[in-house]
Amino acid sequence: MLPRKLPRQLPAGRTTVRAAIAFPVIGPPIAPAFVTVESGRVLEISTAQSTVNYADLGDVALLPALVNAHTHLEFSDLPAPIAAGRGGFASWIRAVVAERQTRWSTVGAAERDAELAKVRRQGLEESIEVGVAFVGEIATTLDPVPATAGTGGLNFLELLGLDPQRQPSLVERARQHLAQGKVDSWHPGLSPHAPYTIDPELLSRLCALATQFDAPVAMHVAESREELELLRSHSGSLVDTMRSLDAWFPGRLPRGIEPGDYLRILSNAPRALVIHGSFLGPDDWTFLAAQPQMHVVFCPRTHAGFHPGRYPLLELLQAGVRVAVGTDSRASTPNLSMLDELRSIARSHGDVSPREILELGTIRAAAALGASDRYGGIGPGRVASFAAVQLPDESWTDGDALLEELFHSTRPASLIFQLQE
Ligand SMILES: [Zn+2]
Repeated sequence: MLPRKLPRQLPAGRTTVRAAIAFPVIGPPIAPAFVTVESGRVLEISTAQSTVNYADLGDVALLPALVNAHTHLEFSDLPAPIAAGRGGFASWIRAVVAERQTRWSTVGAAERDAELAKVRRQGLEESIEVGVAFVGEIATTLDPVPATAGTGGLNFLELLGLDPQRQPSLVERARQHLAQGKVDSWHPGLSPHAPYTIDPELLSRLCALATQFDAPVAMHVAESREELELLRSHSGSLVDTMRSLDAWFPGRLPRGIEPGDYLRILSNAPRALVIHGSFLGPDDWTFLAAQPQMHVVFCPRTHAGFHPGRYPLLELLQAGVRVAVGTDSRASTPNLSMLDELRSIARSHGDVSPREILELGTIRAAAALGASDRYGGIGPGRVASFAAVQLPDESWTDGDALLEELFHSTRPASLIFQLQE
């Protein structure tokens, strides 16, 4: 069967879409499914056929639009991930900085901003292609995310500042970003980069600022063993990398500080995303489970690219930690497909059920981004935005078997949405 071209945008006005099966996520699978939408919102989902403006998508599984809880769109034009080489994570960081320097050192500020906007838009267009509508974006610029129909999310400003001289201007920049408020469909947030670039004192100030503006905070924490070594003993390859970048200020980091100490500071923010959290321990999981405002974001293919060991996904879930999934950027993963990330989980974590895997890229990712009332599920009042995946035929009625099949196939997802009037 040749793949059919599905519509991208649904017509304005009340419209009903029929699909062979739908996974509302917030309820059991429905087959066949009739989803009525109006003014960019879902009115109803049922098995009862409607006759008004009826659009039959045919042999398609309809999922809620996928939610990408973590990416950096500024790398969206990279044709392939930046190689870590034998030096692992520390040499990857060095390569990423070198890539940025070579790219931007010869252009003026205006040209750089225009180019960055183009690359970020390219990332959003790719997201739409693969069924993603809502994104946790981390950017280095104060410029707004380029408005792209069908997409929205959180626009976190990345902050790096172990150098004490830079800190006052950094806090001012963070304040400016939050003071802009919501721009188009993007809410502002702060992203203090990581424990090896942000000291505890500065993190406390940034969390206080986030509280003042009721904004979320996203931070890479316990991403690598090299990070743990740096914190524990001020040694190792990541220290060498930071030193080579003139960015190592050991006086700012109390020796022996733990990722858990950072989690405690982050818990003061109105909402906190702990990006990766790959090397947190059981005590940290217990702490996170007791903090309803904190979420861990797992980036499956990025994790697999750096670390031979398995990500403690089952352990986090069993401990009661709120987990979401993100792609991370094209600097560490081959594309921005959330479905490919979920498929990677299905391959490596046979102990997590397909329904739970789907939640990680929909309702739980939406919860991490503070949007679970609008995104992550198909139901009345929610945004009329769906990820559609073509099926080999129409005969599927068993949702669990189909999800299993879908996660072990390579058929792509694409976004279908109705604009809000
Ligand atoms: Zn990241």
